Amino acid sequence: MFQLRKLPFAQESLSQFISAKTFEYHYGKHHQTYINNLNNLIQGNEFENMHLLDIILKGSGGVFNNAAQVFNHDFYWDSIAPQGSVMSDQLKEAIEKNFGSIEKFQEELTNKATTLFGSGWCWLVLVGDKLEIVQTSNAQVPMSEGKIPLLTVDVWEHAYYIDYKNARPSYLGKFYEFINWGFASKMYEQAKNKGMEALREYISNLYA
Ligand code: FE
Repeated sequence: MFQLRKLPFAQESLSQFISAKTFEYHYGKHHQTYINNLNNLIQGNEFENMHLLDIILKGSGGVFNNAAQVFNHDFYWDSIAPQGSVMSDQLKEAIEKNFGSIEKFQEELTNKATTLFGSGWCWLVLVGDKLEIVQTSNAQVPMSEGKIPLLTVDVWEHAYYIDYKNARPSYLGKFYEFINWGFASKMYEQAKNKGMEALREYISNLYA
């Protein structure tokens, strides 16, 4: 049985980005529903007691969708933090090398997250020794293609509609101000050292 993770910050500390109402729905209802659905779907079958990463990699249909959405939201909550989070020198160097500059990185992230059609996620990932920004539709995850997530932003409308209505670019502008660079830096470090095992450990720590 999976249990909804705790948020890694005090909700009020992000009130300039995400309102209490959005937390109530996005975390309290949407994320919780994915947990409930997943628990119901894996009861008494091969997926019961399986590591969440393996459920995502092996599951299909509703099992995949709900398991992936549990993880996607877990990772999203860790991708944001109160303002002032700083990226490591190593990640900064890698971003400058792969995207040209921090400004170009922000531009590409914002552009790809804005132009993603419909519901989905935009990710900073590590592929081999390269950083990439990738879009995934609906519940899809980069791990299915062997790409290790370092950072994600939820661009399903439920993530921003209450606070920003249809203005996805305004939501993304605020998201950028509240990125948890400390988390992305740590994921980058561990992904470089351990590959996908780093992500397995991340998930194990949430559902110990
Ligand atoms: Fe969401």
